[in-house]
Amino acid sequence: MKLAFNEATTLENSNLEDDLRFCEKHGFDFIEIRLDKLKEYLITHSINDLRNFFSSARLKPLSLNALEEFTFRNPTEFNLMKQDLSLMTEVATAIGCDTIVAVPAFGVEKDWEEIKQETIVKLREFLENIEGTNLKLALEFVGYPDCSINTLDKAQEVVEGVDHPQVGLVLDCFHFYAMNSSYEALKNLSIDNLFLFHIDDCEGKLPGVLRDHHRLWPGEGVIPLETIISILYEKGFKGPASVELFRPEYWELEAEECIRKAKDKTVHLLENALPKTI
Ligand code: ZN
Repeated sequence: MKLAFNEATTLENSNLEDDLRFCEKHGFDFIEIRLDKLKEYLITHSINDLRNFFSSARLKPLSLNALEEFTFRNPTEFNLMKQDLSLMTEVATAIGCDTIVAVPAFGVEKDWEEIKQETIVKLREFLENIEGTNLKLALEFVGYPDCSINTLDKAQEVVEGVDHPQVGLVLDCFHFYAMNSSYEALKNLSIDNLFLFHIDDCEGKLPGVLRDHHRLWPGEGVIPLETIISILYEKGFKGPASVELFRPEYWELEAEECIRKAKDKTVHLLENALPKTI
């Protein structure tokens, strides 16, 4: 299975330039570029610099992430978000990236039907902005109790509600585990709707208590990753698997060490889960 690196893993100890260099050096196939690191990079580089890197590198861009908390915004905030989407569209088109991640709002005390409608409407507005491109929008549910979409079945409901080939979802193993998403939902997941797969592990805390900083290297925690991967593989999903951690302890490592370790741990986990596919 191909491997991707999500830049959250080196959020505090690296930048886009170094992430690109070390991911290429250590043999990742893809990188998921964070919007904050992209904006920082563009202070001293051009979009063309990024295009030139990818044109000569083996490493390829997998996604740009993310449009954060895009629902229940006031009109001004939502227009600013559309500006971010314009920048991401320009960059993605230039570097040959086809997926943009969108994360729903937190702390919303609304009925599910209202949340669902708002999310569908806003995703459709984004679709208008990327009309004529091949870009895809990947909705990422977050396994926190106060996230407006915090389980796989709810994310699927929204994606089915939008009913457009350019809108699908991100399955992040941590988020799947952290709010007890069901294996029934996983088995019912249409592979056509699965745009990105985030691989990670976590401490053995209870659902509802788990937060991003409890994430661990794949294989070092309690998430039944091999079961999840086997279910996806049987459904025809071939990857890539993108390692995404937010652990402050790992941000204390040198960036290169962190990236090398992310690769080794993920390869090892995948070898155990899918011995015949590596
Ligand atoms: Zn994720």
